Amino acid sequence: MAQNPWLVSITTLKRSPGVRRQEQRSGRVGELAVAGSVVPADAVVLADATLDSVHGGIEVTADLTAPWRGECRRCLDPLSGELHTRVRELYRPHDRDKTEEDEETYPLSGEVLDLQPLVRDALLLELPLAPLCSDACRGLCPTCGADLNAGTCDCATAPADPRWAALDALKERPSK
Ligand SMILES: [Zn+2]
Ligand SMILES: [Zn+2]
Repeated sequence: MAQNPWLVSITTLKRSPGVRRQEQRSGRVGELAVAGSVVPADAVVLADATLDSVHGGIEVTADLTAPWRGECRRCLDPLSGELHTRVRELYRPHDRDKTEEDEETYPLSGEVLDLQPLVRDALLLELPLAPLCSDACRGLCPTCGADLNAGTCDCATAPADPRWAALDALKERPSK
């Protein structure tokens, strides 16, 4: 069985405040989904992490890269891209009774630190909630569902956008 790529041994690190370690890890973190996009379960996530042994815990700074997929919120075309984000979080031993401080940090116990919850949380925050294929996307006709990026449909009954009417008036003005 493959080793969990997100576990980092911290045996020496936690006994040596001030010491820094670099770790490059990659692997899967399970599916991450928000309303408009998803990091698929089989996606490979890259993490370039720095672990600093600090008083009371270990501070982790990580640059994360992961592919995402989704669909345009207007025309529903499939979209894909890459997430890039940087996080800095503290891992510290948690009390048996959760304190407020514990909720702002990741738990540390034993000789290994698990990067996966940090990676998952950071990528979830970075996923686009309502992606667009382009700012100029015209979307689908609300009546017949035609993709208006591909051309107009026959549903001429929809009231015209007043901004277009103003433009039309300009165009119809005879030029000298
Ligand atoms: Zn679109
Ligand atoms: Zn239509």
